[in-house]
Amino acid sequence: MPRGLTLELNNEKDFIIKKTPWTRWLAAILPNRCLMCHQQIESSNRGVCSVCLHACRYQTPICLGCGVEIPVLMAFCGHCMASPPLIVISPCSYHQGLGHWIGQIKYQAQFAVIDVLVDALVQRILYLESLGFIQLPQVLIAVPLHKKRLQQRGFNQAWLIAQALAKRLDIPLIDNVLLRVIETQPQAGLSGKLRRKNLKGAFTLSTDFNWQRVALIDDVVTTGTTVDEIAKLLQQKHTQVQVWCLARAEAPGK
Ligand SMILES: [Zn+2]
Ligand SMILES: [Zn+2]
Repeated sequence: MPRGLTLELNNEKDFIIKKTPWTRWLAAILPNRCLMCHQQIESSNRGVCSVCLHACRYQTPICLGCGVEIPVLMAFCGHCMASPPLIVISPCSYHQGLGHWIGQIKYQAQFAVIDVLVDALVQRILYLESLGFIQLPQVLIAVPLHKKRLQQRGFNQAWLIAQALAKRLDIPLIDNVLLRVIETQPQAGLSGKLRRKNLKGAFTLSTDFNWQRVALIDDVVTTGTTVDEIAKLLQQKHTQVQVWCLARAEAPGK
């Protein structure tokens, strides 16, 4: 069992996550009101109250491939089972209320939601592992920003999320194996074909990379073009890749 976690394996919502020094530090500096409903938050949670969080979290089984609701508890929908795509794990849909606030992490340095959503994500990961749907990775890798973008923004939101996950799950976060070597234009507003073209050759993987199981961490996954591009590099090294994020969009066209 990962250090620092107490868990029961009956129900996803029953996983009890112990707070880390990082979450205590966040709790000390942030106002304790829900960003969504503005009610005072009574518990030790920060950012989003338990009512809003519950409303935003998945209530039904979700296909790990395309993100659509499925009627029975299975890893993939019928369509994805035929040729399993990249596994993407997230506690909620990008379109169910929290998507906007996750965008605020990046654009407004609004870190309040990270803690509570990382907890929800950890619960989901451990739940899926207890069902045998996934194997935990050996290492975590954050989707990198180009160094110029990192200088402008001052932080990489994917790295902040990955660092919190690494602490909660006791899985190492490795740096400097994956680099963003081309400063691409923002993906928003581009069609699928242009997104792929925009990202072609944008990432490089260190030649001595030799892990077998990796989780790639991003804040959100919408079209999946970025994580697909990185997964291709990792799969060339015969690495099993899964993607962990705070919210995902259902695959377009589904
Ligand atoms: Zn609320
Ligand atoms: Zn599916």
